Amino acid sequence: MKSANKTFAKTGTTIFEVTSRLAAEHGSINLGQGFPDDNGPEDIRQKAAEYLEDRPNQYPPMLGVPELRQAVAAHDKKFYGIDLNWENSVLVTAGATEALASCLFGLIEEGDEVIVIEPLYDSYLPIIRRAGGIPKLVRLLPPDWSLPKEELAAAFSDKTKLIILNSPMNPCGKVFTADELLFIAELIVKHDAYAVCDEVYEHLIFDDRKHIPLITMPGMNNRCLRIGSAGKIFSLTGWKIGFIVADPSLLQPVAKAHQFITFTIVPNLQRAVAYGLGKPDSFFANVASDMQAKRDLLSGLLSDIGFSVLPCGGTYFVTADFSKLGFEGIDTEFCKTVTIEAGVTAIPVSAFYEGDSPRNFVRFAFCKNPSILQEAAARLANYFR
Ligand code: PMP
Repeated sequence: MKSANKTFAKTGTTIFEVTSRLAAEHGSINLGQGFPDDNGPEDIRQKAAEYLEDRPNQYPPMLGVPELRQAVAAHDKKFYGIDLNWENSVLVTAGATEALASCLFGLIEEGDEVIVIEPLYDSYLPIIRRAGGIPKLVRLLPPDWSLPKEELAAAFSDKTKLIILNSPMNPCGKVFTADELLFIAELIVKHDAYAVCDEVYEHLIFDDRKHIPLITMPGMNNRCLRIGSAGKIFSLTGWKIGFIVADPSLLQPVAKAHQFITFTIVPNLQRAVAYGLGKPDSFFANVASDMQAKRDLLSGLLSDIGFSVLPCGGTYFVTADFSKLGFEGIDTEFCKTVTIEAGVTAIPVSAFYEGDSPRNFVRFAFCKNPSILQEAAARLANYFR
């Protein structure tokens, strides 16, 4: 038998699926994979149900239904002051995952260098490689996850096609500062490169900070593709509705990839997301404040048990150092043992690095009901007592 494509054949099943399966097998509380445990806003789900009945169900336009492209443009204008033409600067995708794949397949040529910042979301590297790109890894490390500016500058070269920037950043909860974004923007201009901006946690940002899209920095409006995810904004992760906002010169090649990956996306869900994006500002503020309260709850409970919990400026996740708990072993062993024996599941942070990495940190998702977070902490406290 001839072999399958080696990039994917070599890749294991994603850590999120692996840990979720293990959690289900052992009936543990799954704070691994990042999905909320409520069912998403009722009015948005109601709209989706209505639109399934009373709007067309045949192929929508390839770029997305006009209602959603208009809503994305209005959202980006309202929150970030971005001026864009909805007709040629917005593309609706099957979640941010497809948005990332379409951007990378649409832009990368064989031999292009692509800068990625570890710890990183696990879809980036296989897709970069399958598209013919050469990843250049720059590392952020706990506990402060600070950006090593000299290393980043050294990673750029004339061969750099693009950088992937994830802010707020999964798994570490880092929110890039305006100063860091400015520094990155200058490197992009200097090396005539682009940025694929994974901003799926744009509304999950805490402590009164405001999300700053890289595309709003000087010189960036025709060099950035800004990716969002309705799954994260509305706690509807299973819907897989994402979007890309970019200058038409950049969006066009990406749309060419999209047309052969998914072509178009479920129409009633697109329309329901358009309705959701039109909700008042207070809705988006509440999304952040509810999640911040959950962050504080879980961080406090984990600290009481003896974890060293790192600060988290955004996302669904806190990172915690378990080395003071007396567990003998590395993060992957910790996660497996704790799933099976304590009944709580987390994700090893080493899964977000290629090669050697710190082995004493795990990621917990706090996008759950407070009672679930309390029960998980009680189980951990009991186990480590
Ligand atoms: N990027 C990051 C950083 C993520 O955490 C996720 C989801 N966990 C995605 C992309 C994918 O988003 P979606 O579910 O919209 O495909």
